[in-house]
Amino acid sequence: MHLLFVLVTSPCLTVLYILCCVSCSWCSALLRPDCLICLVHFQIIQYQTVRYDILPLSPISRNRLNAVKRKILVLDLDETLIHSHHDGVLRPTVRPGTPPDFILKVVIDKHPVRFFVHKRPHVDFFLEVVSQWYELVVFTASMEIYGSAVADKLDNNRNILKRRYYRQHCTLDLGSYIKDLSVVHDDLSSIVILDNSPGAYRSHPDNAIPIKSWFSDPSDTALLNLLPMLDALRFTADVRSVLSRNLHQHRLW
Ligand SMILES: [Mg+2]
Repeated sequence: MHLLFVLVTSPCLTVLYILCCVSCSWCSALLRPDCLICLVHFQIIQYQTVRYDILPLSPISRNRLNAVKRKILVLDLDETLIHSHHDGVLRPTVRPGTPPDFILKVVIDKHPVRFFVHKRPHVDFFLEVVSQWYELVVFTASMEIYGSAVADKLDNNRNILKRRYYRQHCTLDLGSYIKDLSVVHDDLSSIVILDNSPGAYRSHPDNAIPIKSWFSDPSDTALLNLLPMLDALRFTADVRSVLSRNLHQHRLW
């Protein structure tokens, strides 16, 4: 019965369950939902599975990668990599008492403002991995004084988020900010944008990967889920040949 429950929850968790069953020797050969040790095992193993192992490239893969251009991955900040709120603003999306990952103090219009920034789960690992595959570029519709401070924190002296574009680089259209990717690079075959707002990339939908807006869910794995796709996309001659087949997903977010 337990196995059936896992099967309907997630195919991935099926493996976890079996692993847990065979490893839980302190209490029983089978996982018991009323057993604390079993639950601890379950949680630990579940955590381990969200890692993404980077395997060495085969000679064929290496040759293919050398034959295509190195791609650029454009990253949005707010609700894609982080979520923040500032002094005096109540956000019901952030659970009261949830500590921020870091606090930024910036001066806007001569007023000091504190931003409480929450990092999307696995963002550090995500950046560490994709920085090995892509040239990373930050493109946010936020003000530079805030966006640069967030990017500095995410970069964490790794020097992987060097190129940055801010609100002043966006195009304002009908009250919303559009990110023109040709500002970043003139060859659209080699540029990908990851953004929670489809309106931001409406000029280049064939270059976009949609991602669900993130506010506070600690179990979110959206960034990890994208790693296999981003791993594969770097081998394409033109990212649009793949991403243009994905357009129906943009309406989901
Ligand atoms: Mg955003």
